[in-house]
Amino acid sequence: MGKHYFLGLAAGRKESSKQLFTHGTKEDCVKLSEFLKKKYGGEVMLTKNGRSALALALKAYFDRGDKIIVNGFTCYAVYEAIKAAGLTPIWADISEGDLNYDAKTLRGLEALYLGHAPGRSPKSTVPNRVPSSPSDIKGIIIQNSLGNPVDIGAVEKFARKHSLIIIEDLAHSVGVKYADGREAGTVGSATILSFGKDKAIDTISGGALILRKAIKNSIKAPSKRPRVSDTLRSRFYPLFGAICRGLSYIHLGGPLMRLLVKIHFVEKSADNKLDLNCRINKFEAKLALRQLKKLNSRGEKPLREFYLVNNREEVLSKLRKAGYFFDGFWYERPVSPERYYKKVNFPEEACPVATEVAKRIVNLPTYYNKKELAKAREIIKEYL
Ligand SMILES: *Cc1c(COP(=O)(O)O)cnc(C)c1O
Repeated sequence: MGKHYFLGLAAGRKESSKQLFTHGTKEDCVKLSEFLKKKYGGEVMLTKNGRSALALALKAYFDRGDKIIVNGFTCYAVYEAIKAAGLTPIWADISEGDLNYDAKTLRGLEALYLGHAPGRSPKSTVPNRVPSSPSDIKGIIIQNSLGNPVDIGAVEKFARKHSLIIIEDLAHSVGVKYADGREAGTVGSATILSFGKDKAIDTISGGALILRKAIKNSIKAPSKRPRVSDTLRSRFYPLFGAICRGLSYIHLGGPLMRLLVKIHFVEKSADNKLDLNCRINKFEAKLALRQLKKLNSRGEKPLREFYLVNNREEVLSKLRKAGYFFDGFWYERPVSPERYYKKVNFPEEACPVATEVAKRIVNLPTYYNKKELAKAREIIKEYL
């Protein structure tokens, strides 16, 4: 069974004409920057995508060779950014409840890397730190997986204890509130946003970086114009998606979408290129600002409702038969997609929960409304 690529806006929300015809100006970029500055507090840079924003943030606050703690259930884009900045990821296992690392997994990392094994006597003659230069761990990235807020109290306590710099990645979680009432993005040293396909703010591509605290290494704000081919792809993606969805009723949608991917008219999100010099598209800045303003009054809901099912292949096949396109769920591997997973060298034995969850998870795409999803929920519930 072929894969479908009907993601985000592409799946027939009434967004394709907005995406095609919105005209943006420099003023729109200034307005977006000012909005973000006011919301999160700090210096703002608008970027080609979320991964470029993350790579810039890491360059600004860390040195090559530093290690950074990352949620062990994430998108390849995050790994790409970490590598581009010359850092090494330390993968933290997740909890099944919210798909985030928690106090327990952080304690585990502490014992392994930071020389504070629980229960070790302070008078012990064992040196306080394990040999593998534990102090190389300099930071921690918060992900708020699928819009579920991390246990911020535990993270901040842990970060303070070990002098770690916190980076908040809001690709899944713009507008989400932590348990103590603070909004995600107002806690760490830097906040990054992605406006990519199917993200909390979705304009097909684009991203932003907010430097909230003093930086260590200077970085240059991206200023290069986006390539025409990239711009066209962003403009047309929703339209192509809508056409393919329409054609799917006569079984031509899948083949057409595969053709569009093959000739690079449509790019899968994971293949979006990292580019630290390229700025956002002006029309995407305009659309992103519009969505951000709406978000403020929309209240909280998770980005994607998720379920852990038995026999996922069968569930997906049933969903397909019922007319749903569910294949783009997050995540099929602890670091997704599958085709890049091998490159990551992910330590499955150190992250058993993430490894297992990746085998069983499905999540409800955001492009169906509540009513449309009722039948899908029924199908899924049989396999819980
Ligand atoms: C998608 C994603 C990014 C990067 O977004 P792009 O705009 O596609 O580069 C960063 N972090 C997380 C958690 C993501 O899911």
